[in-house]
Amino acid sequence: MSTSIPATPLNSWQEELIQAIDNPRELLEVLHLPMTLLPAAEAASNLFGLKVPRPFVERMRKGDPNDPLLRQVLPLGDELKESEGYQVDPLQEQNTTADPGLVHKYKSRVLLIAAPNCAINCRYCFRRHFPYQDNNPARAEWLQTFATIAADDNINEVILSGGDPLANSDRQLQWMVDQLAQIAHVKRLRIHTRLPIVIPQRITDATLRWLTSSRLQTIVVLHSNHPAELDDDVANSVKRLRAAHITVLNQAVLLKSVNDDLTTQVSLSERLFDIGALPYYLHLPDKVQATAHFDIQQSEAIALHQQMQSQLSGFLVPKLVKEEPGQSQKTLIF
Ligand code: SF4
Repeated sequence: MSTSIPATPLNSWQEELIQAIDNPRELLEVLHLPMTLLPAAEAASNLFGLKVPRPFVERMRKGDPNDPLLRQVLPLGDELKESEGYQVDPLQEQNTTADPGLVHKYKSRVLLIAAPNCAINCRYCFRRHFPYQDNNPARAEWLQTFATIAADDNINEVILSGGDPLANSDRQLQWMVDQLAQIAHVKRLRIHTRLPIVIPQRITDATLRWLTSSRLQTIVVLHSNHPAELDDDVANSVKRLRAAHITVLNQAVLLKSVNDDLTTQVSLSERLFDIGALPYYLHLPDKVQATAHFDIQQSEAIALHQQMQSQLSGFLVPKLVKEEPGQSQKTLIF
């Protein structure tokens, strides 16, 4: 395999962020969708705003309200219903943030809220109610958090999450990684991001520099839910990461009427491997208020997963998991 890094894309990812569609009427117009969808979209976007970058919109089918990429971002009236058993903070994360930006649920791993926003607002998001405004530390506060990590030598892995960590600047991320690399017991850096999927040009030369310049082993976990998300621009970004010797995995969420069928899941795994990413986790959605319409029964998920095993090579079958509050690890379903 060639190790040459393909050229930097020309478009600015920050420009794409600024130009993301946040107006339901504009989204419906661009996609030639009926305006009958507008009242519900506006009402639901008052609770959790619409945000979707144009490179992602370009991959949606025009005139199809059931397009699987659209369903992940279009606010619906279903979000206005209160559903029993669904909560604002189902994983009780807001009780695990004693230090600025820090979520410490697992003994050996900590998660940093490395950016207070995302490039896209996914309607199923388990952090759609997270108080990001209270978790946006300045550098002096981050130093307090890094001191906490330095004082606990059980911690060998730091996860950059968000929001989406890649919504932050390369300069700030370089600074954070430089700080973490000074803590001897931290060995690995894991970055969970959807940004290279929705704005593929986010993987800049500066990104590759901070991902590779420290002694930390680096893993990028992409969040892609559907093979139609993985166009040639996304493939090029993954190729750049791989050419820089970065491990690239993918985790997906199993979402009703988006990707809860065998053909889609098999295509997703095959396409991920084609572009250089290994399927890692397939999550059941968390029980977040306003997202019940994405949920599928665990028994259906298990049946689908068994069918996937019969059609895919073992290394292409992601682990089927769910998160449960108070558990020190994900619950492996299959
Ligand atoms: S990118 Fe991730 S954190 Fe951001 S809205 Fe989507 S699911 Fe939530």
